[in-house]
Amino acid sequence: MFQDIAPYVFHNEYGSPQPEDDDILIVQKGRDILVSQEGSERTLPAVSQVRAVCPQAAQQAWYLLSIDQKHFFCTDVQVPEADGLVYSSVMGLRDMDPGYMGFGGSVSWQLASWYDLHRFCGRCGTKTVHSGKERAIICPECGHTYYPRISPVVIIAIVDSDRILLTRYSRGGYRRHSLVAGFVEIGETLEDAVRREVMEEVGLQVKNIRYCESQPWPFSSSLIAGFFADVDGDPTVHLNTDGQDELAEGVWVSRDELVLEDSGMSLTWDMIRKFKENHPICTAGR
Ligand SMILES: [Zn+2]
Repeated sequence: MFQDIAPYVFHNEYGSPQPEDDDILIVQKGRDILVSQEGSERTLPAVSQVRAVCPQAAQQAWYLLSIDQKHFFCTDVQVPEADGLVYSSVMGLRDMDPGYMGFGGSVSWQLASWYDLHRFCGRCGTKTVHSGKERAIICPECGHTYYPRISPVVIIAIVDSDRILLTRYSRGGYRRHSLVAGFVEIGETLEDAVRREVMEEVGLQVKNIRYCESQPWPFSSSLIAGFFADVDGDPTVHLNTDGQDELAEGVWVSRDELVLEDSGMSLTWDMIRKFKENHPICTAGR
């Protein structure tokens, strides 16, 4: 999956090394990120490359994380596009080659966005400062401390014997089949969220909810928890046709007819592959 970057090792410990020329410098602009482009090849820009265009950006950079010895930094200086440096959707990092750069870049974008959204204190409006001791932002006026927040999401593989329920959303550009999914809401357990999302989106009751695996998803500052669940009672699908989360499709597909549509970068398709291969999670607890 996306986060599986072995033999490279991801380090998220807080630190404050200084940027070197061949380290990576993340410059985010909303949901866009500055990338180095040569022909159709896109990579994350090195500190030296950004410095050549905007020296100030390299001077005002701070450390985010590492993969092996490669350090990732970000800056809040706005860097103009230049020859070989363009802004591009952060979603492009999902398919970046090598994959460890896509993963490191997207987690860095997540952190850079968090810093960007906390330049001022939400309580008193004062300009905030970095802690300097840990990955935190502090208000020098009222003392409030801000830490990065992660929004939990559940994805559910609903199973009815040798059939799995595939969905397709009508919004957005993602047109491949998917699974029922949604953000956990306040006051819910993960299992509560599974039951609510399944009922809201496809009108089914589920039982035997069992945890499968998880995936960090930096693009929505999320941690996704994947569950299998068995349909309980009538398997007739009643699609949610209200609002922006409208589903365009919800179909039962048998194991034999199931076609793998994705490389397996996403937790969704890793779970669908597990169903196809009749992994023990498919029948666990029955
Ligand atoms: Zn404050």
